[in-house]
Amino acid sequence: MAVVITGIAELTTNDAELGKLRDAAVVLDGDRVAWVGAAADAPAADERVDVEGRAVLPGWVDSHTHLVFAGDRTAEFGARMSGQPYAAGGIAVTDDATRAASDEQLAAGLRKHVDEAVSQGTTYIETKTGYGLTVADELRSATLAGRYADEVTFLGAHLVPPGTDADEYVDLVCGPMLDAVAPHVTWADVFCETGAFDEEQSRAVLTAAGKKGLGLRVHGNQLGPGPGVRLAVEMDAASVDHCTYLTPADVAALADSDTVATLLPACDLSTRQPLPEVRALLDAGVTVALASNCNPGSSYTSSMAFCVTTAVLQMRMTVEEAVRAATLGGAQALRRDDIGVLRPGSRADVHVLNAPSTTHLAYRPGVPLTWAVWRAGARQR
Ligand SMILES: [Zn+2]
Repeated sequence: MAVVITGIAELTTNDAELGKLRDAAVVLDGDRVAWVGAAADAPAADERVDVEGRAVLPGWVDSHTHLVFAGDRTAEFGARMSGQPYAAGGIAVTDDATRAASDEQLAAGLRKHVDEAVSQGTTYIETKTGYGLTVADELRSATLAGRYADEVTFLGAHLVPPGTDADEYVDLVCGPMLDAVAPHVTWADVFCETGAFDEEQSRAVLTAAGKKGLGLRVHGNQLGPGPGVRLAVEMDAASVDHCTYLTPADVAALADSDTVATLLPACDLSTRQPLPEVRALLDAGVTVALASNCNPGSSYTSSMAFCVTTAVLQMRMTVEEAVRAATLGGAQALRRDDIGVLRPGSRADVHVLNAPSTTHLAYRPGVPLTWAVWRAGARQR
């Protein structure tokens, strides 16, 4: 069944030729976009939806979340807001709660958080394992995640479980754990950071995952300068995520690579880190993505709009740059060319704002502006 969405005051396509259109229409046919152009030229369809002067853009692509978890870290967050620093070790609290939870509890949490994201305009979502850290629990996390998320990433290398020898654990991740989980995931990721995995351990994990045919991602340069960005570029990772502390050499390496710099501003705010210096990245020509990093410890929000608002108001991105990074940038971080864009043939992922332009995302901070969402052609709200 075809649907024509008309009455679009401002249409952000992210397509190089189509650009931004005024007084536009979009036709969806099944799970694909069939037509984009001026409202006056729109073909007939089975159903017509007039959005009455609202702005339309591709649905948010959230390329970095951790939604397979149980438990609660409100107290840790409260302590942090009272001045305690963030450390990678807090992950172990969620590991214990996740292992103790039933499949049904984990599935209910996944469904709740994916629904919450979709209701706010997210139409494509990646999520990671990484709160299991045993072969059985990582396998369980990966299979449950595949039921609800569009893409699943293996993050066995999230933290060395307390009381475990680090090198022995890396051998487990690169061997039996990867063997068990690889058939259920597209990507592998490693937390390359002080307190998590060092450069050599991270390289070993990425090398083993690459040999299994998985795409690579890296958590790096979150809590201080480090080897994460350099390693991600060396391994041709699709994305290096956080990038809170970058040297000029890191920026130059990214600019000379196909690795996307994924920024997670809600996480930086929630851990009281500085926000990334995005202007240096953009000026150097680095592809930038924005993502939520939704997880119970360091960034418990599914709101991509909040990330966009923060990127504009506090990181000094333009609205166009931030919206692009949260849509097309996320698609590039997942190495897909059929999402984060509205053109004939792309996935029918459409976000209608209750506002005449995307500028309102920053002009009206904190106001829920999602008015309608189609995800792969299916109307969500
Ligand atoms: Zn993360």
